[in-house]
Amino acid sequence: MSGHPLPDAWWTRAACIGTDWSLWAPPSQHSLRVLAVDERRYAEAATYCAACPVVAECRADADLTDDPAFRAGFSAVDRHRQNTGRW
Ligand code: SF4
Repeated sequence: MSGHPLPDAWWTRAACIGTDWSLWAPPSQHSLRVLAVDERRYAEAATYCAACPVVAECRADADLTDDPAFRAGFSAVDRHRQNTGRW
């Protein structure tokens, strides 16, 4: 049996493939606060997410894995707030 990609390899269609991964990194200084520098790079990252064909799959995966990175157009803190309703 040959090596076959996973059946739901949605990430192969991600708009962020080939981008600078530092754009998506968790907030600086491992803080829950999103600093100005994070706001700038997340704004750039969000432009990719806005045009991404697999944003729904990405969001589901980010929520499932509790990924600290910027995913599906939102920081981890914002996704947590959206999911819990706590601000
Ligand atoms: S939604 Fe954003 S972070 Fe998720 S795969 Fe698409 S471009 Fe990447």
